[in-house]
Amino acid sequence: MLLSVVVPCYNEAGNVAELHRQLDQVAARLDDQMEFILVDDGSRDHTLDLLKQVAQRDPRVRVLSLSRNFGHQAALTAGIEHAAGDAVVVMDADLQHPPELILDFVRKWREGHDLVYAYRQGVKPRLGYRLINAIMKINVPAESADFRLMDRKLVDAFRRMPERARFIRGMIAWLGFRQAGIGYADRQRFAGRRSYTLRQTARMALNAILAFSSLPLRLAAVLGVATLGVGLLYAAYILYAWVAGETVQGWTALILTMLVLGGVQLLCLGIIAEYIGRIFEEVKHRPLYVVREWIGPKRGTAAGAGEDVGRLAATAGAANEG
Ligand code: UDP
Ligand code: MG
Repeated sequence: MLLSVVVPCYNEAGNVAELHRQLDQVAARLDDQMEFILVDDGSRDHTLDLLKQVAQRDPRVRVLSLSRNFGHQAALTAGIEHAAGDAVVVMDADLQHPPELILDFVRKWREGHDLVYAYRQGVKPRLGYRLINAIMKINVPAESADFRLMDRKLVDAFRRMPERARFIRGMIAWLGFRQAGIGYADRQRFAGRRSYTLRQTARMALNAILAFSSLPLRLAAVLGVATLGVGLLYAAYILYAWVAGETVQGWTALILTMLVLGGVQLLCLGIIAEYIGRIFEEVKHRPLYVVREWIGPKRGTAAGAGEDVGRLAATAGAANEG
């Protein structure tokens, strides 16, 4: 059996050597053949040079260099699509994900699980996750990380999900299959700094909700109905006042009505706009990432890919050749 380990790296120069050392130790304890797919997500430090050096020393290492920084989720996707393994492990480069856990992953995989995911132990499920689960009606295991083993079956199914707005944890949860979770203790980064900005995190949370549910749209409709209801009641009152011949001192009521109605309308427009923006992103059909360079034997790209699954990889590949 061939086991692929996919690691997205963005400015991880301080971690590459140690990561490779630990992966090598793990590999020594497994009977499986291994390949390490290290994705350079347009790093601005010398991560790529270090990755190439590692690839020179170790024939199991393949380096996928993207043409610029496409973000963690795109880099992960790129790595997964280029992996040839019967199972694919994804993990972070900063050693927050203990590589020894791969041994447990493989054990669970052999027991017949298609997906083995790791979750941080001893932390309370964040409100965000509970919200996401409630809204999306799929179950993203609380505090799960982008650290998991996926069987080839699941990888091939994943490759058929071409959406641009990627929240991979949610996509994997949507796929189902036979899952098992393994807890691990949270760790500090080995070196370097977290590169996710607050903006990226917010964007990802928004993706998670908007890409998996049309509940916000329904919310807009509910808001509309509620406003209409209140409006009708108020209209009845005004008609009554008019019939009763009471003089109407309407200025305050008028301004309030205008403000509330204007606010509700803009809010609903905003919700719709978020979805339209996403539709626009999707219909452009751009590749999720562009490969600049692939270092190592080129067996990964097409492995296990039927006619219909290669679309993503095909576009990315075409961009690579051009
Ligand atoms: N990463 C990436 N592209 C980016 C940002 C991050 O490939 O634009 C990688 C990074 O090198 C690391 C993983 O994604 O391997 C997780 O990033 P980070 O440690 O910054 O996030 P955190 O672990 O704090 O969620
Ligand atoms: Mg990290």
